[in-house]
Amino acid sequence: MRQWTHFIDGERRDAQAFAEAFDPRTGDACSKVALAGEAEVDAAVRSAGRAFAAWRARRPIERGRILQAIARALREKAGDFIAVERSETGKPFANAARDVETAAAYFEFYGGLVNTYAGEVIGLGDGLHSYTLREPFGPVAVITPWNAPVNQAGRGIAPALAAGNCVVAKPASATSGTTAMLAELAHACGVPAGVFNVVLGSGSRIGPLLAGHPGIRKIAFTGSVDVGREIGRIAAERIIPVTLELGGKSPNIVFADADFEAAVKGARKGFTTHAGQVCLSGTRLLVQDTIHDAFVEALVEEVRKIRIGPQDDADIGPITTKSQYQRILGWFEEAKRAGLTAATGGAPEDRPGWGSGWYVPPTIYTGVTNGMRIAREEIFGPVLVVMPFKDEAEAIAIANDSDYGLAAGIWTENVSRAIRVAGAIQSGQVYVNEYIAGGVETPLGGYKESGLGREKGIEALHHYTQLKSVTIKLLEVA
Ligand code: NAP
Ligand code: MG
Repeated sequence: MRQWTHFIDGERRDAQAFAEAFDPRTGDACSKVALAGEAEVDAAVRSAGRAFAAWRARRPIERGRILQAIARALREKAGDFIAVERSETGKPFANAARDVETAAAYFEFYGGLVNTYAGEVIGLGDGLHSYTLREPFGPVAVITPWNAPVNQAGRGIAPALAAGNCVVAKPASATSGTTAMLAELAHACGVPAGVFNVVLGSGSRIGPLLAGHPGIRKIAFTGSVDVGREIGRIAAERIIPVTLELGGKSPNIVFADADFEAAVKGARKGFTTHAGQVCLSGTRLLVQDTIHDAFVEALVEEVRKIRIGPQDDADIGPITTKSQYQRILGWFEEAKRAGLTAATGGAPEDRPGWGSGWYVPPTIYTGVTNGMRIAREEIFGPVLVVMPFKDEAEAIAIANDSDYGLAAGIWTENVSRAIRVAGAIQSGQVYVNEYIAGGVETPLGGYKESGLGREKGIEALHHYTQLKSVTIKLLEVA
């Protein structure tokens, strides 16, 4: 069984205590994960603190060159990363491969972007010269969840390092492997000791110790709203910046003038990708009333084609953690209590090949109203609620009637409508005629309770730097 341990000050740290991580395709233990305590957290933050002065002083092109080397090495070693990511998350091969490639793309993108990242000169007229500098914070904590571990590690860590910060990463305990591997790989590519550390273990135990450590100068957190709120409180207490990438209950809106076939496929992809364990999932499907019944019928048919299981080429795999699996089964019960009948799915199944893995069938509920719990709370599984609407105004009203505001989809061939609705939607991402679009270049983040700040794109570099303005009085020539 593989054993993952902390990576501190450029080396693996021996650990006394370990927890087991499980392969969700079988429910069997697949790796052992070291459990950090206060001593390891402190050692990692101190190491990051010691490494900071030299790392921030490096010429950006040199930092960028190292990040580009990490991108290349990740692509060369993609097979190892995919295998570990698959065993810990259960996702199908193509999904895991895409996540590793995306992680590499973050290092590639920020490794290049850092070369053009600069301050500005501000005109103050004759006699004064003013300019801005974008300076790193110091040691930053990057705390990530279990649904796309290597992708999210790259997303948080690449811009942090590019900007000249040092990192202490804490991956989810269910899926620690690829982040631990990434730290070693980065070190081998020339990241100096202490610049990129990883501590493993229980988030509820070491998360607050890490976020609250006086050496940490910024926190980037991806995960649930509840933990995000805790992290936000710690950051407020310490007056340090925090970015929060939290959950969603995103609307996917289909107008009668949409390309029907494309919208059916997009609706399917929106809520079933990685078995719905995607923060951006389009889990509230709003369909114009004139096409509602035909659309649901076509979508149910489309969803029944989905191949679920442990095999390499499955469309979707299992739910990554047992507790999340049980939570989804709980939602099936909640739906029954609310008087809903599933158009497909809605109960645990026993299909050939599923064995003791944590599989759930994609599930569609119609006849839902937006006030129901199942339309308001994030499920984080392949569960869709469908609601009809009469016109554009009603679609926008239902879409925005949510505590969340992460993403939204719009399906229409009318470009004026697309632009109007995209402008009216309260969410950080809007996709038109596709669901989940964009790249490492496009900013990602939430409106309302979906989060604070932005990751990806140049925005991430803004969030990993603090702005200084320098103003110089020019002395008269003597
Ligand atoms: P979570 O429980 O909030 O955990 C996220 C991370 O925080 C894990 O590393 C976890 O460690 C750690 N953690 C747990 N309790 C902590 C505490 N008290 N203080 C500090 N850290 C703590 O979330 P999850 O269950 O892993 O992931 C699912 C959630 O993440 C969903 O709500 C989803 O929408 C959201 N998500 C958002 C995005 C986005 O980009 N917006 C992306 C993916 C997921 P342990 O694993 O050891 O508990
Ligand atoms: Mg959790």
